[in-house]
Amino acid sequence: MNADARQSYFLLRFLLRYILPLLIALPVGFLLLYPQLWRCMQIEDSPDFLGLTGQPNVYVNRNATRKQAAQLNTHLQTARTRLARFWGDRRGRATLIYCPQQADYEQYCIGGEGAGCSLGTPWGESFLVLGPDGNNVDVIAHELCHDELFARLGWWRTKREIPVWFNEGLALMVDYRFSPPDLWEHPDRTARPNYFDTDDDMMAFAQPPMLKLTNLETTREFFGGSYGHVMLAYQIAANEVSTWLRVVGRAGVPALADAVANGQGFEQSYLRLERSKRLKNRRR
Ligand SMILES: [Zn+2]
Repeated sequence: MNADARQSYFLLRFLLRYILPLLIALPVGFLLLYPQLWRCMQIEDSPDFLGLTGQPNVYVNRNATRKQAAQLNTHLQTARTRLARFWGDRRGRATLIYCPQQADYEQYCIGGEGAGCSLGTPWGESFLVLGPDGNNVDVIAHELCHDELFARLGWWRTKREIPVWFNEGLALMVDYRFSPPDLWEHPDRTARPNYFDTDDDMMAFAQPPMLKLTNLETTREFFGGSYGHVMLAYQIAANEVSTWLRVVGRAGVPALADAVANGQGFEQSYLRLERSKRLKNRRR
């Protein structure tokens, strides 16, 4: 065996002995860790779910009433249109799963909390799970927004680059339970933002902000804590992203996603877009 052949032989042995088992073990371990994800992946074959007529990749639990299924259809279309307006176009391809009963919801959403949740896999699949309170345009738009970012950046980049405060804050911009539609739908640049404290239709947040964005970067930092902490985290995220969005405008959202997808860092791109827009506005 010459030197080249020996080198190839050792490389092949190394790949077979270490890399191949790792490539098999990682997804298997991931699914063992998250049985909900495994159930989502099997949804097509589950006897407990039916596909929603005319909507590919939308599955409704059999215990949903006809009225609930019809409402879901309408809400989904409204939410998708809202998302397309916000992002410019829609690239998310998540499978949607609707469970009108809490016990079923917990089988598909890790933790079973909130009205809806989104799950993504390192290999690019994604699922939106809606619980008993999730058959609602705002909840669906919120979850679709998470999926849109995921579709544009992929699992690894979303996890590594995007702070949770931005991911959540952005989703709140299309979730009109928490933010006013005129922020980006028909922005009035002369008006000052006064979200979360005056409009009775919106959910009231508990306390004035005391947390810093730098303490809300990971899932644990954002969601780990009391109900009050999480609500406060949402408020801070929404305040920050709405201020940024007001400056950069709707086009800044896909521009930021493109920049991060092209390997420019999140923080750098976020600040750069804001700075250049402020400069342009000043020159006018
Ligand atoms: Zn969210």
